Amino acid sequence: MTKSNLMNTYNRFDVEFVNGLGTKLYDTDGNEYLDFVSGVAVNCLGHSHPSITKTLFEQSKSLIHISNLYYNDKQNKLAEKLIDLSNHDKVFFCNSGTEAVEGAVKIARKYGKVKSGKDKNLIIHMKNSFHGRTMGALSITGQPKYQESFKPLISGTIEAQFNNINDIKEKINSNTCAVIIEPVQGEGGIIEASIDFLKELRNLCDEYDALLIFDEVQCGIGRLGTFYAYQKFGVIPDVICLAKGLGGGFPIGAVIANNKAAQVISHGDHGSTFGGNPLACAVSLTVINELISGGIISEIDKKAQYFKDKLEKLKEKHSYINEICGKGLFIGLRVNIDPKKIITKCFEKKFLVIGAGKDVLRLLPPLNVSYDDLDKCVSILDDVLSDFTE
Ligand SMILES: *Cc1c(COP(=O)(O)O)cnc(C)c1O
Repeated sequence: MTKSNLMNTYNRFDVEFVNGLGTKLYDTDGNEYLDFVSGVAVNCLGHSHPSITKTLFEQSKSLIHISNLYYNDKQNKLAEKLIDLSNHDKVFFCNSGTEAVEGAVKIARKYGKVKSGKDKNLIIHMKNSFHGRTMGALSITGQPKYQESFKPLISGTIEAQFNNINDIKEKINSNTCAVIIEPVQGEGGIIEASIDFLKELRNLCDEYDALLIFDEVQCGIGRLGTFYAYQKFGVIPDVICLAKGLGGGFPIGAVIANNKAAQVISHGDHGSTFGGNPLACAVSLTVINELISGGIISEIDKKAQYFKDKLEKLKEKHSYINEICGKGLFIGLRVNIDPKKIITKCFEKKFLVIGAGKDVLRLLPPLNVSYDDLDKCVSILDDVLSDFTE
């Protein structure tokens, strides 16, 4: 395999994929894999969805890129759609999750400046969070293993305990410009924020005039059963970061903000050359249309319940599973053996899964996954866990 030319950023599996269809991937030898990684929660419609393929083809014939010096019809339509679906007012487009977080951080810093001069610049983030790999997002990623080699990080960041409102109360003050949180922590191990915690966090942010930012890069775009993750919790943030599922596999990210937050941004404050290009926006419009009008999101709760029931049965059978965690199709199995060992065995059985945190097996099927494929997943996990019994 052509390993030698790639920088050593990922510990890759020894497989080269050439083809995909729905939940299936095919390697160079034609072997079929069941894919419950979905490009890490990206391919929400599975591989080679015909509507995405068609949009890519059609849109590329009319317009791919023009820069943000001009308006383009697809960007305007996508912005309108995202705002219609939200409680918010403005959108900024970018190309990835980390870029969406950088955008949100800049909005927060400018908000603090505009509101009360130079000292209102502190950003509270959660322990165990993951917000991305660029220096700003890395600085608010509460996991030392990602940060250690790259210090000094940006200053003015404060770590607080997830789901611990007293810790936030101790750390928030009038110099706080924002609190950023994943409503369900992804990389950290599929850990849900409690509704009460988020509600109190909302109140604290209002009290200290700090922006509440939800990083929905992984848990948004239908994965929890609502289009935006915040809608599952009934707590409305000021700013939302989106990416991963937004383009169904085509790179696109977005920052959504209410007027209170967005109004501080003026010409030249921020930008992105590729952000919101017509091709990416056209694909995203197609994805959203499939997810909503295609009835995919409205079926998630039912599908998730079916899946969770099966997984609970699996838990009864295998003492290696401690807990089924997560919401919607954002599911984790908390296990008491090294998840890497399970992932390796799954790979040998041509089933792709991913870990999260130290002890979680993360299941991220496309949102249009069939009941049949959910059954297959459970049956393979049953086999794999049975192997450990010996
Ligand atoms: C993946 C992820 C990011 C980073 O997204 P990239 O597109 O890899 O830059 C940020 N936040 C969360 C919650 C994520 O899951």
